[in-house]
Order: sequence, then structure tokens, then C-alpha cells
Amino acid sequence: MKKTLFFFTVLVSLVGYTQTDQEFIKKFYDSSLSNGKSYSWLDHISNEIGGRLSGSENAEKAVKYTKSELDKLGLDKVWLQPVMVPKWVRGEKETAYIQLGSNKKIEVNICALGGSVATSANGLKASIIEVDGMEALKIMKRDEVAGKIVFLNKPMDATLIQTFRAYGGSVGQRVNGAAEAVKLGAVAVIVRSMNLRLDDYPHTGTMRYGDLPVEKRIPSAAISTNDAEKLSKMLKENKDVEFYFKQSCKQYDDVQSYNVIGEITGSDFPDEYMVIGGHLDSWDLGDGSQDDGAGCVQSMEVLRLLKESGIKPKHSIRAVLFMNEENGLRGGKKYAEVAKQKKENHIFALESDSGGFTPRGFSFSCNDVVFEQILSWAPLFKPYLIHSFERGGGGADIGPLKNDKIVLAGLRVDSQRYFDFHHTAIDTFDAVNKRELELGAATMTSLVYLIDKYGFDQNNNSSN
Ligand SMILES: [Zn+2]
Repeated sequence: MKKTLFFFTVLVSLVGYTQTDQEFIKKFYDSSLSNGKSYSWLDHISNEIGGRLSGSENAEKAVKYTKSELDKLGLDKVWLQPVMVPKWVRGEKETAYIQLGSNKKIEVNICALGGSVATSANGLKASIIEVDGMEALKIMKRDEVAGKIVFLNKPMDATLIQTFRAYGGSVGQRVNGAAEAVKLGAVAVIVRSMNLRLDDYPHTGTMRYGDLPVEKRIPSAAISTNDAEKLSKMLKENKDVEFYFKQSCKQYDDVQSYNVIGEITGSDFPDEYMVIGGHLDSWDLGDGSQDDGAGCVQSMEVLRLLKESGIKPKHSIRAVLFMNEENGLRGGKKYAEVAKQKKENHIFALESDSGGFTPRGFSFSCNDVVFEQILSWAPLFKPYLIHSFERGGGGADIGPLKNDKIVLAGLRVDSQRYFDFHHTAIDTFDAVNKRELELGAATMTSLVYLIDKYGFDQNNNSSN
């Protein structure tokens, strides 16, 4: 028996797939593109509900809506998983200007960073000093910085084709800038928006004070890239520059929210789980259509396409719409905590959180044997222009599931335009292309189908 299984496994590794697989995959793409539901679900989430910051009324509306839509798919189980989430509220629209000399004011576009404290009710005005990112800040002296606003202006690296790497290289100044600047006596932090192009939209995003006591926290905001350039130029040309801004954001006590989960229970291995997901919360400036309404509706569409195909998955397949990825990751942590408590064996998790753009492939956190097996399926994806199978991380929400066995994956898309929209007022429904979104959903479904059918060549994935 064991020997037969071994030969079967070797055979599958060599051949990789069958004609039936090609046919099923074609059906997934055909259906997603011709009668898929992902785009209309996204329309509702974006246009009928809108931005879904954790703890907001809209976030709860999105929980109810997506649960009710999953209920209509005829799945085996749909439920809400309770999780406590932080609640931060932006308050009234921020205002800011550059003060040149005694009477010239130039208005600029800013937005408070998520988690920041407010300025005083009248705003805050101080002289401002430009710093080229976190490394430069760390070697500055207290007397250079004390009493001033620190302007962190390190741009994203335009030469990196993988724009998420450019983001990773600069986002530290947004997340940790205030905590670092306060050590040198700064009174506030203004950060260049995480954006590869020049425009007028400030990009919000999370920031952290670490264990800094509340009374020592300084306000932190993002400035649009056009205005960052303007401010930088003025600082170079003119010594007499001050900066004024006013924001009224506030952190409240944690509130109850939920992860939304739908499941098709496995026929052969009901106790082995495969997860596909995105995050249901979003920032508040736009509708969160790219980040990450797209990943949520694609994950829902995976279950719809599998149901429609008539396939009875061997493993239990769950779509998980995680709450609070943006400013706490509480949903991802809660899901992993409950899975551990219940001793649920998760073999695979796939996240879509890079926007609803044209899919290019996947990144995988797995060992060499599993990766070779996945590569053997590459020809099945070729007709759909999916060609990029790389090693790498899966996604923030599924990260807490990591252990020796699970294979984690991320849907990789053409990310060149993602940071035009990310965390801004223009991350809205019209920023998402219908076909691109649908191609992503079908691509995810195809991978899930193959992994469910063939399993992994070995159970222990310990080298990942
Ligand atoms: Zn996201």
C-alpha cells in the first residue's frame, strides 16, 4: 500500500497534472470572467458601505454583508469569529500650511497617520527640519532636533520593479518615525507619503509609539509627495520656514468585531484545512477597494467557483475575511489562536492583499520539495499569463498561522500602480478593473484546486 502511494506520488511529480485539470482550470476562468460575483460584491462593499476602519460602523456593515453573501453560496458552514479590535477615529479633516517668513502661508495636503495622537485644538506650529529617513534620524543630535517638527522625506526607491520592496525600504519612517524622533525632543513628525509618483494625495497608514507613555506621544501625519517636494525645496532655499498642522484624531477603547468565515467541508480529510483570505477592514480615506476589498471578494469567489464546478474538495476549504489587518492584525492573530486551541491542522493558506490588479503568479513560503511540485504545475497557468512562481512571504493575516507544516502563499499581481492608491482617498471602486479582479479570483481558485487534489508531496514542510 505504502509502495503504491510512493509510486503514485512520483508519477504525479513527474507529470504534474492531467487534462482534467486543464479543463477545470479553464472553467474557473470562464466562469469568473463571464458570470463571476467578485465585481458586484466589491461594488457593494465599496459604494454601498465604503471605508471600513476597524471598530467603525462601516466595518460592522461589511461583516454583516459578506456573511449574508456567503450564506447564499450553499457552503457547509458560515460563521463570525469574535475578535476585539482597536478603534481609532480621524475626526475632522486635517489642515496644514508652510509658513514662509512672517506673512506667507502655503497650504499643503496632509492626513493623520493611524494611531497618532491629535495636535492641540489650535494646532501645532514649529520650525521644521528635513531628515532623509530613519538611519539619518538615528545619528542626529538632540540639539539639532529638540523643539522642532521632524520631516522624514526618504522617497520610495523608484528603481525597484517589485514595488512592495520599495515600500518595505521606506515605510519604517512612517511606522516608527515618531517614536524615534521623540527621543531627540521633536514635537511632531511629518512623513513623506508612501507613493512612487508625485501627486496631491496624502497616504495614511499605521504608526506605533511602542511603550511610550501617552503623555509623551507626539502627533504624526503624512504629507502628499508634491507637497513634500515643495517643502523640501523651500527648506533648501529659505531658512525662515515653519510648519503648522492641526489634527483631531483619537484612540478609543477596543470594541468587538469579527472575522467572517465560510467553509466547504472536505470529503476525505475534513480535519485538514486550506485557507484563502484577504482583510475586510480598510483605511478610512477611500473605500478600501484595492486594499483589500479586492482580496476579500476574490476569496469569496474561490468558494463560489469551487461550488459551481461540482468538485467535492478533499480538504476543508475556508475563505477567511480577516478584521483589523491595517492597524493591529488582531483578526489574523485571533484566527491562528483559535486554530491552535482547536488543534486544527492547516496545510495551506493563500492571501490576496496586493490589490486587484492583473495576476502574475504567487510567492510561496515552503520547502524545496513542495516548491518543485508547485513548479510542475506552471504549464497549466501559462495560457492565463501566470508565470511568476517565487519564494517569499504569503501575507500579514496568514502570517500567524506559520509553523513547520503549513505552506503559505501570496497572490502576486502587477504592482506598478498599487502605491498610487494605497491608503488614500482615491482607493475607490473605479480604481479596480473588473477583468483584472476576476482573473485574480480564477488564478487563486486554480491553485487551491490543484493543492486540494494532489496534496503536498510531503507533509513535513520544516525547512520553510
Ligand atoms: Zn492590505
